[in-house]
Amino acid sequence: MSDTSQPDIALDRRFAQEFPELSIPWSAEEAAAPRLIMLNEPLARLLGLDPADLQSPDGVRLLLGNRVPRGATPVAQAYSGHQFGSYSPRLGDGRALLLGELTDAEGQLWDMHLKGSGRTPFARGGADGKAALGPMLREYVISEAMHALGIPTSRSLAVLATGDVVQREKPLPGAVLTRVAASHLRVGSFQYAHATGGSELVRRLADHAVDRHYPGAANADNACLALFASVVSAQAELVAQWMLIGFVHGVMNTDNMAISGESIDYGPCAFVDAFDPAAVYSSIDQSGRYAYQSQPVVAEWNLARLAETLLPLFDDDADEALALAQEALGAFRCEYSAAWVLGMKAKLGLSPDPDDETSTSVANDVVVLLQAQSLDYTSFFRALNHAARGDAEPVREMALDLEALDAWLDRWRDLAPNAEQMDRENPAYIPRNHLVEEALEAATRGDTAPFHQLLEAVTDPYREREGFVRYALPAPASFGPYQTFCGT
Ligand code: AMP
Ligand code: MG
Repeated sequence: MSDTSQPDIALDRRFAQEFPELSIPWSAEEAAAPRLIMLNEPLARLLGLDPADLQSPDGVRLLLGNRVPRGATPVAQAYSGHQFGSYSPRLGDGRALLLGELTDAEGQLWDMHLKGSGRTPFARGGADGKAALGPMLREYVISEAMHALGIPTSRSLAVLATGDVVQREKPLPGAVLTRVAASHLRVGSFQYAHATGGSELVRRLADHAVDRHYPGAANADNACLALFASVVSAQAELVAQWMLIGFVHGVMNTDNMAISGESIDYGPCAFVDAFDPAAVYSSIDQSGRYAYQSQPVVAEWNLARLAETLLPLFDDDADEALALAQEALGAFRCEYSAAWVLGMKAKLGLSPDPDDETSTSVANDVVVLLQAQSLDYTSFFRALNHAARGDAEPVREMALDLEALDAWLDRWRDLAPNAEQMDRENPAYIPRNHLVEEALEAATRGDTAPFHQLLEAVTDPYREREGFVRYALPAPASFGPYQTFCGT
C-alpha cells in the first residue's frame, strides 16, 4: 500500500521475511484526525530522518503507520510470556506493530515500532488495540529520561493523537507512540518459538539475535551458549542500573524482557522516592512479585525461562546441556553484584577497586542508612555531592537519625570522595512520580507545557538549572502513596 509521494524512509522487512512463523503482516488502523503531539527531533536526526519531513501531513501518516514506507512489511510479532509467573502461550503484539528495520548513518539497525495502532490477530477478547495519550506520553518521557541517564532503553520518536476516543475508566484521547529499539526480541519470543517450532526455529531465532546484538558470539565454539551468556551479562548490567537509579519496572513478565538488554515496554513503572526496598507501585502487583528489591531475582528467573528454550542447542546430552545452562546462569549473581557495587561506588565518588573492602562496605551500608531513615533516594545522593565539597548540612537536614548518618559520613569522608565524579553520577532530575502524573494530566486536558518542561528537566538530568528547583524536590506529603495502573 506504499505510495510515491514524499517524504519516504527506507525500512527493511528483515524480521517479517525471515520469521513468517513469528509474525503476521498487518496494517495500522487509519487515524481519524491525526495530530503530532511530540516529535523527538534529536532522535529523528540520529536516525537519519528529517524532522521537518516528519512534521508534514505525509510524515505524520508515516509515523502512524498509515503510509507504509518503501520496502516495509509491517507485522505483528508473536510471543509467549510468563505473566506474574503464569504462562500464556500466545500473547504477541495485540496493539503494536513492527513497521520494519531502519539503518542509521552509522550502520546500526533499529526496529521501528508502533504502540496503540489498532487491534491485531493477537489482541485478546475485549482488548481494543488502542492506547490513551497519557500512557504513551509516559513511555515517551520515561524512556527519554532513562536514555539521558545512560541506561539502555528503547527510545521514543513521536507521540500522535489519533482523534479517537479510547474508553478506559473514563473516555480518553487516543494516541500512537512511535518508538525505536535495538530490536523487540523478547524472552517471550524464544518461548513462543520453542513451543511452536521446536529447536529448529529457536536456532534460527538465536542466530538472528546473535547477528543483531551479539555478533561476537558467532565465533564461539557454542554460539547459542555464548548468546545466552551475553544476555545474562546484559540483563545483570541493566537491572543493576535500574537499582542504582531507583527504577521499578513494574511488570517484568518474560514478554517484557528484551534479548538486547534494553529496557522495554514501560507500563506501570515508577521511581523510588522515600527509600523502601519493598516498594511496589503497580495496582495489579498484589503479591509484590516485581517490587524494587525483587528485580534482580526476577531477572534471573526470567533468564532461566530463556535457558529452557535453548537447552537442546547447548548440548545433545540433556544432562550436559543443563550443566552448561546452570553455569552460565550462575554468572548472573556475580555480574549483577559486581555491577551494582561498582555503580554505587561511582555514585559515592569512591575508587572502583573491587579489592578495596572498606569502600565496598561503605557502599553496602549506604543502603542500610537509606532504608532505616526512609531517605529520598535521588535527593540523598545529590545532597551528598555537597558533603563531598565540605558542606554536609543539606544531607544532615534530611536525616532522622543524625548519629547514624554522621557515623556513616565519617567513614565515607575518610575515603576522600571525588565530588566531580559524583556530579556526573547522581542526577538532580528524574521523572518523579508526582511530576509525571501532573504533566500527563495536563497533557490529557490539552496543555502540553508541563510535559515539555518536565522533559527538558529529565533529558539533561545532571546539570542543575535555575527555574527547575521543584523538579529536584520530593513529592509533597499531599501527593500520598503512589499507585500506577496497568489499564494503559
Ligand atoms: P503489556 O502489559 O503492555 O506488556 O501487554 C501485554 C499483552 O497484552 C501484549 O500481548 C499486548 O499486546 C496486549 N495488550 C495490552 N493492551 C492491549 C490493548 N489495549 N489491546 C490489545 N492488546 C493489548
Ligand atoms: Mg509488553
